[in-house]
Amino acid sequence: MDFLRITDMDVTGKRLLVRADLNVPVEDGRVTDTTRIDRFAKGMRPLLAQGARLVILTHFGRPDPCELNPAFSVDKLRPALAKALGVPVKLSDVCTGTSAEIHADRLQNGEAMLCENLRYRQGEANNDPGFARELSKLGDIYVNDAFSCSHRAHASTDALARMMTAAAGPLLVEELDALGAALEAPKSPAVAVVGGAKVSSKIAVLKNLVQKLDAVIIGGGMANTFLYASGAPMGKSLHEQDQSETVAEIRALAAESGCELILPVDCMGATEFKAGAASQVHHALACPDDVMFLDAGPKSLAKFETVLSQAKTILWNGPLGAFEIPPFDHSTTALARCAAAATHSGRVVSVAGGGDTVAALNVAGVGDEFTYVSSAGGAFLEWLEGKTLPGIAALIRAKKAA
Ligand code: AMP
Repeated sequence: MDFLRITDMDVTGKRLLVRADLNVPVEDGRVTDTTRIDRFAKGMRPLLAQGARLVILTHFGRPDPCELNPAFSVDKLRPALAKALGVPVKLSDVCTGTSAEIHADRLQNGEAMLCENLRYRQGEANNDPGFARELSKLGDIYVNDAFSCSHRAHASTDALARMMTAAAGPLLVEELDALGAALEAPKSPAVAVVGGAKVSSKIAVLKNLVQKLDAVIIGGGMANTFLYASGAPMGKSLHEQDQSETVAEIRALAAESGCELILPVDCMGATEFKAGAASQVHHALACPDDVMFLDAGPKSLAKFETVLSQAKTILWNGPLGAFEIPPFDHSTTALARCAAAATHSGRVVSVAGGGDTVAALNVAGVGDEFTYVSSAGGAFLEWLEGKTLPGIAALIRAKKAA
């Protein structure tokens, strides 16, 4: 990727205006999962040690910009951020204007401040150049370190990069390198596992993957839609009846590119959608009228495991079944453990991403055992589609313009 990297630049005494993604879960005023903060801080600590002055921008939740609801104040992130950075973090209770500028100007080398929620301001989502201009007064160099926000052309991911020296942050570079190893130059055999609810939400993803990889395993409600398109009854299963043309198109693209599409040959079905529901194995092409397919069956799982055991690259998005409801988490958990074991053996580069996928890997207890797990949802999917994300495009454009 042809953009500037902040780690290659002289940052001593510079105010780095860093767009981070510190949108972490909070309960009773305390951060309950610091993963995002810790990953971000790991990249920032060496910059602080070199004498950078950090002015940190983030959004937090989805406040209505007209309300300034204190429930969405970033103040509650400060203790976890300070601990992870290893320095106190000052708060600027506004993200633009004289007071914020005074706070930023008073920072000393190695100090950090956090600006109040970007989404308190309408200008953020509107990609308003006026708002970005105000933000730009807080820093000398703009740094995008938020891959997970880079699929949105907002003021802090797009407009800012047009008006300042703009560089990629360490976490953003790490994420792009890890993802690139799995999709841009994957070691063969390269296999994707794509599951989840709907084909219609991942058409572009499937089209891109079948052109780049050797095999794509399709699971979950998506597999039901593929089976339905080939003429199988789907009973009460989650499936989309209007996607047969899309399915035919994806099959044709896969055939043209020599990519094997692997569908379940058997499924676990139940008559009720509830935890502990009695379930039975059914042939994938013979779903009874009163049954819904909620997970892949044992023969399918064995086939999927064989494919993964030969893979050198694994990309994963979406569960193979209704993993939130045991026992329908079974095949997702088993296959996730198989991918984790292959990763451990050093044979495989494995990359997973998307909100539900991370949750499913955590259910399987292997959230930390893939080569890379991206916490980005929308950005990860757009990357899987083969798009250059607006926030990354802005960095590339900024370097060209410099
Ligand atoms: P997605 O956001 O598209 O990755 O979809 C994830 C959701 O799909 C999860 O909530 C799963 O419970 C759901 N899901 C996956 N397979 C099935 C299935 N066979 N029937 C019903 N829901 C499913």
